[in-house]
Amino acid sequence: MADSDSKSSFSSANDCPKSVNSNCSDQSDIKQVNTGTHNSDSEELMLEIGERYSVRRSDDAWHPAEIIQMRVNDHDRNYEYYVHYDGYNRRLDEWVTRERFNVSDGYKNIEPKNRDTRNDNSEQPDRKLTRNQKRKHDEINHVQKTYAEMDPTTAALEKEHEAITKVKYVDRIQIGKYEIDAWYFSPFPEEYGRQSKLWICEFCLKYMKLEKTYRYHQGECTWRQPPGKEIYRKGTISVFEVDGKDHKIYCQNLCLLAKLFLDHKTLYFDVEPFIFYVLCEVDKHGAHLVGYFSKEKESPDGNNVACILTLPPYQRKGYGKFLIAFSYELSKLESAVGSPEKPLSDLGKLSYRSYWSWVLLEILRDFRGTLGIKDLSEMTSIARSDIVNTLQTMNMVKYWKGQHVICVTPKLVEEHLKSAQFKRPRLTVDTSSLRWTAPKKSQLKFLKK
Ligand SMILES: [Zn+2]
Repeated sequence: MADSDSKSSFSSANDCPKSVNSNCSDQSDIKQVNTGTHNSDSEELMLEIGERYSVRRSDDAWHPAEIIQMRVNDHDRNYEYYVHYDGYNRRLDEWVTRERFNVSDGYKNIEPKNRDTRNDNSEQPDRKLTRNQKRKHDEINHVQKTYAEMDPTTAALEKEHEAITKVKYVDRIQIGKYEIDAWYFSPFPEEYGRQSKLWICEFCLKYMKLEKTYRYHQGECTWRQPPGKEIYRKGTISVFEVDGKDHKIYCQNLCLLAKLFLDHKTLYFDVEPFIFYVLCEVDKHGAHLVGYFSKEKESPDGNNVACILTLPPYQRKGYGKFLIAFSYELSKLESAVGSPEKPLSDLGKLSYRSYWSWVLLEILRDFRGTLGIKDLSEMTSIARSDIVNTLQTMNMVKYWKGQHVICVTPKLVEEHLKSAQFKRPRLTVDTSSLRWTAPKKSQLKFLKK
């Protein structure tokens, strides 16, 4: 594989996030850019980092926003400004050109309603919400917790995380036939991390700065599927098992790609302790990357998923839940109980909750006799804490004499199965198409969670 580009750039892999961070906050760097393209017109029109304006979002609505960073864009050498919209998830932070700022009237330097309140979402309904309604609303609208709502340690970590990952320089990628907007910062090494667009080979995941390199690579690259072993194939759906130790560059590239769509992923370079399960859609051109989950080879916390992602063009088609179901099928074959690593992304949380409800309701509908939380856990490989939480949201568990007891009637099960929130998965795992045996470990036990 002619892959020297990505390989060499990983020589300083572990230093990379630091160097990218220091670049992010290095204002002198930006000033040099300004003087470099100095002319009287642009100087007059230039906006400053830290200033606040009303900005037109992509849906044409005007919204108060703060300028976080600026750059000269690649194609027409004009300034672009990186803005954060008050009260919105940072996923919606974006690079905008000057004509999307309202600089003509009193909106300039509008004060935020409350500096520390990140969910002063103007679209939030006025009526009083129950805790459960608020949680659902917040998840759907991607409203984040305020620092005040977090415990001090989490708040400190969040602040640090936010400072580091404030600006997504790479805001677009081309991968296969898709051009995709990035959601979050990802620490692509060196100058790759400063590009506004990266070109990524959909098969070997090598990333490139220039379209011309990418086109050339397409002619040269012989990969048509992920490395590793195909462990599942049914129809056009295929899953490959890729060991981070055997295919380090591929797995690192996969993590960097994934970070563009995950806010809280922290692992990019130390891939060896992980196995990656890569989901593909197969056609006559090859196996196209849809999503993946990673799994620690030995998880002291009993996690059966470290990181899980469906690429945006494939979202809302049932692939996320397929990956979740797949992770539990592996756990069943290991005779182990597992749970996803926390924190889950907001989208991840919704998918997991939906999967857990579906699995539990299916069992409760058909089962005759008595069932405990422990039995459900052994049948499904879902951790007891996740079962209790899920049953609680469906009002199916009571706390009695120091333990949780399932408390359910056939009518209640039917009601939930008929409710709008309940969705039967579109894609299910056919275990007869799975060719996998659990790796031999010293002694597998059901972990108590
Ligand atoms: Zn390639």
